[in-house]
Amino acid sequence: MRGISFSVALLAAALLCLFAQAPAAAKDAQRADCVTSLARALPVAEIVSNRHLTLCQKNALNIAQPQTVLRFDFANPGQRSARFLQTRLGHFEKLTIAVVDADGEVAIRNFDEDSVRLTSGRPAFLAELPPASENAQALFVIFDEPRHDATLLQAELLESDPTLSSDHSALMFGFAILVGLMLSPLLFDLAFWTALKQNFLIWHAALSLSFAALVFFRSGLAVEFLDLSIAIWRATLVIVLGVAGLMASLFTQSFVEQDKLHPALRKALPFMGLWCFAASVIHAARFEFLAPLGGTFHTLAMIPVLGLFIMVLVDAWRRGSRAIRFQMAGWIPLIFAFSIQIVSFLTPWGIPTDALPLFYIGVVSETAITAIGVADRFIALRRERDNARLIATEMGTLSVRDPMTGLMNRRGLDNRFEELQAQGFNTFALLDLDEFKKINDRFGHAIGDDVLVATGAALSSEPGRDTVAFRMGGEEFLLLLRGPKGLERIENLRTAISRRVASDVAGLDSVVTASMGVIISPADAYVRMTLDDLYKRADTLLYEAKAAGRNRSVHERLTLFSDRGEGVSAKAEAASARAA
Ligand code: GH3
Ligand code: MG
Ligand code: MG
Repeated sequence: MRGISFSVALLAAALLCLFAQAPAAAKDAQRADCVTSLARALPVAEIVSNRHLTLCQKNALNIAQPQTVLRFDFANPGQRSARFLQTRLGHFEKLTIAVVDADGEVAIRNFDEDSVRLTSGRPAFLAELPPASENAQALFVIFDEPRHDATLLQAELLESDPTLSSDHSALMFGFAILVGLMLSPLLFDLAFWTALKQNFLIWHAALSLSFAALVFFRSGLAVEFLDLSIAIWRATLVIVLGVAGLMASLFTQSFVEQDKLHPALRKALPFMGLWCFAASVIHAARFEFLAPLGGTFHTLAMIPVLGLFIMVLVDAWRRGSRAIRFQMAGWIPLIFAFSIQIVSFLTPWGIPTDALPLFYIGVVSETAITAIGVADRFIALRRERDNARLIATEMGTLSVRDPMTGLMNRRGLDNRFEELQAQGFNTFALLDLDEFKKINDRFGHAIGDDVLVATGAALSSEPGRDTVAFRMGGEEFLLLLRGPKGLERIENLRTAISRRVASDVAGLDSVVTASMGVIISPADAYVRMTLDDLYKRADTLLYEAKAAGRNRSVHERLTLFSDRGEGVSAKAEAASARAA
């Protein structure tokens, strides 16, 4: 958690630096005085020979028309020192820049998508202007087959190459740090994954990765590292946006708690994600039939995506989802950024904007806050899991213990027998209280229970870890011993029952005794008789003890004849001992 807070602080710091460094490019930038689309493409000569500059006199932009002319008037000498055209990235067939002077002299430069230069720092490109003479009157920028409104409306003239300033280097450095930090949740996710295999961790890693890629491409950092054409850069940017949308929906689907989202909304999420991805691929592919729509197709396609996200946030919030609170805090700036972008692209109010500052605040807050949300969820899930384990352990304990005497029961014996045998417990005894039914009959069941409890206490009275007693059911017990003098010690335990019952249970008028069948295996040999076999033999010996008058042990000592270590045979030797 501390690591995450640290990363959040770093992200915030990186973001602050970015804004502190954000270039004041707009200060000396010059905007077009007129933007007009033409129903029929005119030759450049005809456009520029228009002496009185009447061609582009009223703003009338229509992306569906084949040509759009931008006119920049040079009203004062300062404006003639412009050197570059910079505008938003977008496809076009041909770009012609022409400067006209008062004598009608024209300087022209032609560009296509491959000859303009991509600007890092924002999704934009640069074109160098033709040299302007001292009496330059106006500059025409002519786009043939432009595809994006923003390319036409965000065009501006600059005096210097904005990517050469030191501010710009600092900005790019800031973006590089930002991208690095945005990748850090991948490490958390990986670490969490090793402890808890939850799908949302995978989707969160994928989401962080796609958001980092989005910033990498959108900031233009990619241009600094990779030799990209406009077409490739734009296609990549659009597809990465689609992938980010897909990952965001898959993450949300797996992140919101089981019963905290309407099932229909949960089901719709991956489909909407796929639609977001598909629309981006279609937009990137630049189908001819969509050309008249320009960027509008993609913008329209994102409306339902945004709408569904808002519905999911609201619904999960109302159902009391804890996970969604983090997502909400993370997503709101991003939703605002996309909403502003959509509104500015689709309505005539204001210049189409990518709302970049808000977008960056959005990706950072989304990455940081969602990462905290993931950590929070991880901690909660792990606590749940640990509790479940604890309960399982307790249940397991209960099921192997006899609640009345506290001794292990038959199941406990089954679980531990082989282990104890391997640890050298070589004396095996089956013990049964004598005439117990009479105790019940004469003193009542409750006193009978007290006798059983006292018996259990007597059987576990030997100090150390060399005796284990089990209650097999009713008034029948099983003892396992290891170490020297097994027969003597076990006999002591049997006789201890009488004393313990006499001292613990008041009101009895006779001594409670027990009979026992004992099997002693050789301590030094690795004897592996099955529990069943031992039990059957011991039961026979116990029966003999009862038959011989009760309150006694009958024991059998197993002797080994080993034939080259193979085949183990046992020889029984029975003896009966009357208790002292
Ligand atoms: P024997 O010397 O031959 O073993 O005689 P016995 O009376 O001990 O023999 P039997 O096995 O017939 O009787 C066991 C009695 O133990 C029967 C049953 O009512 C009683 N019993 C079994 N479980 C409990 C228990 O949990 N509490 C009490 N109070 N009595 C129990
Ligand atoms: Mg009995
Ligand atoms: Mg019995």
